[in-house]
Amino acid sequence: MNRLRLAIQSKGRLSEESVALLREIGIDIDEASRKFLSQAPNFPLELLYMRDDDIPQVVSGGTAALGIVGLNEVEERGFDVKVAARLGFGRCRISLAIPRNEEYTGPQWFSGRRIATSYPNILRRWLSDKGVDARIEVITGSVEVAPAADIADAIFDIVSSGGTLVSNGLKEVEQVFQSEAVLIANGNLDSGQQEVLDEMLFRIESAGISRRKKYILMNLPESAMEEAKRILPAMRSPTVMPLAAKGWCSMHSVVEEPVLWEKIHQLKAIGAEGILVLNIDKIVP
Ligand code: ATP
Ligand code: MG
Repeated sequence: MNRLRLAIQSKGRLSEESVALLREIGIDIDEASRKFLSQAPNFPLELLYMRDDDIPQVVSGGTAALGIVGLNEVEERGFDVKVAARLGFGRCRISLAIPRNEEYTGPQWFSGRRIATSYPNILRRWLSDKGVDARIEVITGSVEVAPAADIADAIFDIVSSGGTLVSNGLKEVEQVFQSEAVLIANGNLDSGQQEVLDEMLFRIESAGISRRKKYILMNLPESAMEEAKRILPAMRSPTVMPLAAKGWCSMHSVVEEPVLWEKIHQLKAIGAEGILVLNIDKIVP
């Protein structure tokens, strides 16, 4: 297989989780020798560490075939890349916020006002969509202090918990863009490169599925087995094994995390005992 270059953020909010994801899908990363370029010893991948701002551009230009970056950067930079997978970490939103004591009257509040942001393109699109004419002040860092410093009347910035807004006397009034980390790919991969990407996607999917599922096992009176199968459908059908105690069996299955507690209560109600719930390392679809 061809060796592919993957650009990831060198230092910042996405770096650790990017490396953790690669490890989770069985790609060894030698963090001790983390440098500009490093080879994965057991997978045809070469890591390129860089600032997140530059990742869409190097992937679009082909210097790196792949990249892991926030969808917000992909959207803002506007380079032509394919989003190959959403990765579920680095979730945040880009929102408009105004001073807490202002009364918000809807998008027209921003008419004729100054908005500080590091995301002028995403903001410009939203403003034109709403038919609002505002002035965009581009600043690259500490956007949240702009209103207090009278650089702007409002800000358009990344929010996750909202704590930074509150401590700067601001309130969030419009959530404009939802972001998470994504795996991006150059649009012209050759077939060898595509094969490596497909293998990564296959593993990412398996890891993602297993994170949302739990392995569950329990002892059941044999008379309750049919009912238990209806409660826990499993991938094909649950595994049932006899127990030494007469009239009892052990049933194993896989259950979706969001319905886990509801299922546990249903199973207890039909006589299940000794219920164990285990984490799943991988599920191969
Ligand atoms: P660099 O030095 O690489 O340019 P940066 O300062 O631009 O780093 P970070 O703050 O590390 O960027 O954020 C990287 C990405 O993480 C953002 O583009 C966004 O997708 C996501 N992100 C940023 N802030 C948060 C947050 N508060 N919560 C969750 N994810 C966030
Ligand atoms: Mg950056």
